[in-house]
Amino acid sequence: MKVLKFGGTSVGSAKNIHNVISILNSYNNGEPLICVVSAVGGITDKLLLAGNLAKNKDESFYEVFNTIKQIHIDIIAELIPTNAELVIIEVNNKLASLKSLLEGIYLINELSPKTSDKLTSYGELLSSFIITHTMKSMGLSVDLKNSQELIITNANFTKAEVDYRSTNKNIIDYFKSAQQQVTICPGFIANSNNGEQTTLGRGGSDFTAAIIAAALKVKQLEIWTDVSGMFTTNPKIVKQAYPIETLSYQEAMELSHFGAKVLYPPTVQPVLDLNIPIHIKNTLDPKSVGTIISNDHINSGIPVKGISNINNIALLTLQGSGMVGIPGFSKRLFETLSQEKINIILITQASSEHSICIGIDANDSDLAKAVIDKTFENEIALHKIDPIIVEKGLSIVALIGDNMKNHQGISGKMFSTLGKNNINIRAIAQGASEKNISAVILEKDVKKALNSLHERFFEVKTKQLNVFITGVGNVGEKLINQIKQQKKYLKENLKISLHVVGLSNSKKMVFDASGINLNYWKDELNNGEKSSFQSYFEKINELNLRNSIFVDITANEDITHFYPDYLRKSISIIACNKIACSSNLENYKLLKRLALKYNVQLLFETNVGAGLPIIDTLNNLIASGDKITTIQAVLSGSLNFVFNNFNESNTFHDVVKQAQNEGYTEPDPRIDLSGVDVARKILILARESGLEIDLNDIENTSFLTKDNLESESVDDFYASLIKSENHFQNLYASAKSKNCQLKYVAELNNGKAQVGLKEIPEGHPFYNLKGKDNIVMFYTERYPEQPMIIKGAGAGADVTASGLFADIIRIGNK
Ligand code: ADP
Ligand code: ASP
Ligand code: MG
Repeated sequence: MKVLKFGGTSVGSAKNIHNVISILNSYNNGEPLICVVSAVGGITDKLLLAGNLAKNKDESFYEVFNTIKQIHIDIIAELIPTNAELVIIEVNNKLASLKSLLEGIYLINELSPKTSDKLTSYGELLSSFIITHTMKSMGLSVDLKNSQELIITNANFTKAEVDYRSTNKNIIDYFKSAQQQVTICPGFIANSNNGEQTTLGRGGSDFTAAIIAAALKVKQLEIWTDVSGMFTTNPKIVKQAYPIETLSYQEAMELSHFGAKVLYPPTVQPVLDLNIPIHIKNTLDPKSVGTIISNDHINSGIPVKGISNINNIALLTLQGSGMVGIPGFSKRLFETLSQEKINIILITQASSEHSICIGIDANDSDLAKAVIDKTFENEIALHKIDPIIVEKGLSIVALIGDNMKNHQGISGKMFSTLGKNNINIRAIAQGASEKNISAVILEKDVKKALNSLHERFFEVKTKQLNVFITGVGNVGEKLINQIKQQKKYLKENLKISLHVVGLSNSKKMVFDASGINLNYWKDELNNGEKSSFQSYFEKINELNLRNSIFVDITANEDITHFYPDYLRKSISIIACNKIACSSNLENYKLLKRLALKYNVQLLFETNVGAGLPIIDTLNNLIASGDKITTIQAVLSGSLNFVFNNFNESNTFHDVVKQAQNEGYTEPDPRIDLSGVDVARKILILARESGLEIDLNDIENTSFLTKDNLESESVDDFYASLIKSENHFQNLYASAKSKNCQLKYVAELNNGKAQVGLKEIPEGHPFYNLKGKDNIVMFYTERYPEQPMIIKGAGAGADVTASGLFADIIRIGNK
């Protein structure tokens, strides 16, 4: 025998009722089934609404009644399309008596708890009747048994307590002789000893099912609802919540008591002693595994199993010097509340006994204040204690788990997570059993609290990087495209969530703390505010986002003066701009120091060889204890392009022009051709190898003429190239006559660095270097004869952008 309970949504529409019937049919092994059903979803609320309107002499209760009626008639029409007359007559009879009851409430202007129970009973009476007759119309072996004839309670209306002796007897007696395969029982409703209708409390159909399951000692109780089990927290509030596979009875009880509505708290109690497992399943997704509650899983080892919350809490504080050391205050306080049937949800008492704080349902708070102040009337008059303080608009959030007691620091994590998110904690309680740590917070903070606690205790950490890009020209645009394309990959595979939060060029800047939409970044930037290096820095500072990264894709010197400011604000820097790292030694050392001090990174992989992993490799060699003896390199994509294309059939001038047009040179080609750019690169490699040198320590033998070097503008420079054509043709002819290639080579040897044009003989690794390729050979203590060689495209927007991207990921992985 099995007991299954289907909740309001599960029986909330004809379609869902069909699901219920097919679930019942799927147990076709002849085993008798008891099916407990709730009212059609939302009907209990509507019945209470109609009752309250009637009580308040508001005739709109008729409208609510008509809605209730229509919902049921529509469901029948869909479920039993033919021969439904008898069912409709009976349902109409029930509805007619419901209407009379509402009219009675309207007339006497009163809705007592007793009448309220009579009223809400209609929900389950109707649903169970309709479902039974639908199944009968399908020829199934089914019968309806009214739970009011089985479950006997006291007269504590709206939340009656069960008389298990007579209840168990009734249930056993009835099912002993029941012949039908499926018995449908309405949940929630019962009868008192005097035969008056009672209910078991809102959400009580779960309890009905547990009572029947325990009386018959069945093997399993199934609670079918609209979610796939008990979740790590309310899935309606936290998107990332997921079903918990197994829970102990105690954990399930705590979670439900602290607000996990999926299970009505008293449900666990009847089945606990008999160790009948409760399986929570989803009617809308019957295949999903759901949650099993039993004591077989008591030691799952996981400390925090779930987080729950109760809203609409009031905190009552009783305090006063007269309480210290005098026994009986708490007793009187609790007795007063108990007499009024006010349920205490949470208690904290300071060890000084100077104050007691209790959390109750806010709806009870006015009554609570009145009765407590009355109880302590004398003490208040004598100023021994203060009148009770009531705070409303509060919620309780609770971490639940049997194993929390075996793990240290859980409450620390909980409170620091709340603190970091600026959530103020009004009171704290930790049950002596340590299955529960609760905090009272403002109700408006609940969503933030549940989400941040869930992230802290249940989610694989995703690191968010907030990137600010300056200089969105060619390379910047490629970088943005690469970020756009890889966003999903980074999130799924590296757990990095990359947000481009700021963009700027020389005219405009734009920011969006939640991430600029990269599909429209150009429009957003065009419509942005006027930019300056200063205002850009200030804005980033003001946004104050965690893991901020400033990416400099300019070739501007002024911007590098802001680098120390960025580092001091704990903002990492990724520089495509070479100026800072090739500036004077003191400045380079200062930047390195600041990055260390403020625990951020200063990365500049693209300063040498664009996207080639040259600096990273060098850093890894040094970090692993290797020593650089010699570096030989061709580091200028532009000069390589020029000398690979220059020959007797063209002019040096035209080839340089072509290189510039194709984007292989700096905007001012003199920086490349004079060798300054290569000198900066070898300077950076020398410094990263541990040498303390400056740019003017590098020997630079220029292949340009005096005229070329002294030109005052880019145009002048081009004009001077035409005049020096012979000089260049001679360089070319000399190399050719020796079967050599011209390459612009950078060298570091015995602590001395030099750059210059060299004739490279056939067979040398540099000889066949094509196009805009770069090559670096590291001779080290570990690589003394055969150098470590890195070779590949050393210029171009795409590869430079991927070098910047790699730096961003390095920071993300840190
Ligand atoms: P039923 O009508 O089937 O009894 P309820 O509405 O009483 O369903 O309970 C199911 C609802 O409980 C879910 O739809 C969900 O919104 C809510 N809920 C709150 N906390 C949790 C939780 N921790 N796990 C699952 N559901 C939860
Ligand atoms: N129909 C009742 C309610 O809404 C009982 C239940 O659904 O469990 O509270
Ligand atoms: Mg429920």
